[in-house]
Amino acid sequence: MAHATLHDIAGNVLEPGDDGYDEARTVWNGMIDRHPRYVVCCTDATDVAAAVRFATRNDLEIGVRCGGHGIVGHAVPDGGLMIDLRPMGDVQVDAVGRRARVQGGALLGALDRASQEYGLATTAGNVSHTGVGGLALGGGMGWLARRLGLACDNVVAFELVTADGESLRVDHDSHRELDWALRGGGGNFGVVTAFEFALHPVPGDAIAVEFHFSLDGGSTTAAMRAWRDLSIDAPREATFTATISGRTLALGFVWVGDAVDARRHIDSLETRLRQAAEPIANSVDPLSYLQLQTREDDVEGHAWRRYWKGHYFRELADDLIDALLDRDDDLAPDVSLQAYGGAIADVPGDATAFSRRDTAFEFVAASRWRSPDEDAPRMAAARRYASGMDGYASGAYVNVLGDDGAAGLRRAYPTEQLARLTAVKDAYDPGNVFHLNQNIRPTDG
Ligand code: FAD
Repeated sequence: MAHATLHDIAGNVLEPGDDGYDEARTVWNGMIDRHPRYVVCCTDATDVAAAVRFATRNDLEIGVRCGGHGIVGHAVPDGGLMIDLRPMGDVQVDAVGRRARVQGGALLGALDRASQEYGLATTAGNVSHTGVGGLALGGGMGWLARRLGLACDNVVAFELVTADGESLRVDHDSHRELDWALRGGGGNFGVVTAFEFALHPVPGDAIAVEFHFSLDGGSTTAAMRAWRDLSIDAPREATFTATISGRTLALGFVWVGDAVDARRHIDSLETRLRQAAEPIANSVDPLSYLQLQTREDDVEGHAWRRYWKGHYFRELADDLIDALLDRDDDLAPDVSLQAYGGAIADVPGDATAFSRRDTAFEFVAASRWRSPDEDAPRMAAARRYASGMDGYASGAYVNVLGDDGAAGLRRAYPTEQLARLTAVKDAYDPGNVFHLNQNIRPTDG
C-alpha cells in the first residue's frame, strides 16, 4: 500500500540513539523528557501524509511538533511517532497581494522578519521562537491583535493533511465547518502543512512603557486601579500589560503605531499613576516592531523547567486586584496580564472556534526553575496562587491550558462551541488519530 513505510519519507527518520534524536525530542519546557519511537522530519505535505498513514497502520500515537512551546509537550509522544515540522519553516510573502504563505513548521520570527521586509505584518505572539502552528491554531494573541484581530482571524486558508492522509485546502468557502474549527480548535483536525495569512501595513514604530512599584511600598492597589481604569478606553494601538515578579509590580502598555500619538497616552498614564503611588522606576523604550517581537526571547528561553496556570477575566474588579496583589508566598509565580478587546471583540462570538472574545485581560501565573527537586513545591505554589483568582475567571485560553483535561476544555469553549467542535471532529477524525492536544473527543471515541 502506498506510503505504508517510512522509506517513502524524503526527510530524515530518527530513532533512539541516532544523531539529532535527542535534540528533536527536546522542547521548550525542560520538564518534558519523552522518547518517541520515531521522529519523522517532514519536508513537505507528502512526507506528513506518509507519516500519518504509517502511524495509524502501526498503531503509533502521533505528536505534531512545530515550535515545541506547548507547555505539556503534546508534541513529543512517548513510544509514538513525532511529526517534526521544523524542516517546513519557510515563509513566502506576496507584498502586492499582502499575503504570507507560511509552512506549518515555521516560527513566529520567520513570519515577522519576512513580512517586515515589506513594511507588513500580521498578528503573531510575543516571543519569536514560538511556533506559528500551535499559536495560530489555538487563537494567537499578540501586540497587533487589538488592531488586527488574533492570528487565527488573519488566516485566509489552511493546507491540511487529514487523519486519512489526504491533503485539503481549507478556507471560508470550502470545508466551511473545518475552517471554523481550525480557528481556535487546536491540532485536533489534522496537520496544517501551510497557512496563508493576510498581511497589513505596520510601519514599525513600537514603544514599551512600564512603571514599577514595590509591593512593600503601599498604594500599589490604587496604582493598579488607575491603570485598569485607563485600560478600558485605551486606543487599539495600546495593549495594556501588568506583570508581577517577586515583590515588584510593573504597569504599562505596549504600543504599536504612531509614536507621537503614543506620547499623549504615556503622559496621561504617568500622571494618573503618580497620583496614586510613587514608582520606584520607569522605562519608555522605543523599539522597531521586530525588536518588540524579540524583546522577551531571552527571558522566555529554553531548558528551564516550567509550569503555568491561566485565566481569562472579563473585568478587573477591585477585589480581584486585591487578590492579585496578595502574594505572601516566597514561591509565588510571576504574573502577567495582557489586555484583549478591540478587534478581537469585533468578531462575532460564533464566527470561530476561538471563544471568550469578551475577555478584558488574559492572566498567566508562570514559574520556572532548574532542579527537579523544586517541581512539586513550585507547581503547588502556582496552583495555589492562581486558584485565588478562580472565582473571578470567565474561562481560559486553550493555548495556556495544561493537563486540565475535559474541565480545561470547558473553560476554553462554551457548550455550543464544544458541540460544534465535536461534530467537526466526528466528520474529519472520528478515530481520534490526533489526540495529543487539548483533545476534542469524537462522539464514539
Ligand atoms: P508545539 O508544542 O510544537 O505545538 C503545540 C501543539 O499544537 C501540538 O501538540 C499540536 O497539537 C499543535 N500543532 C502545532 N503545529 C501544528 C501544525 N502545523 N498542524 C497541526 N497541529 C499543530 N500564545 C499566544 O497566543 N500569544 C503569545 O504571545 C504567546 N507567547 C508564548 C511565549 C512562550 C515562551 C510560550 C512557551 C508560549 C506562548 N504562547 C503564546 C502559547 C503558545 O501559543 C502555545 O504554547 C502553542 O501551543 C505553541 O505552539 P508551538 O507550535 O510552539 O508548540
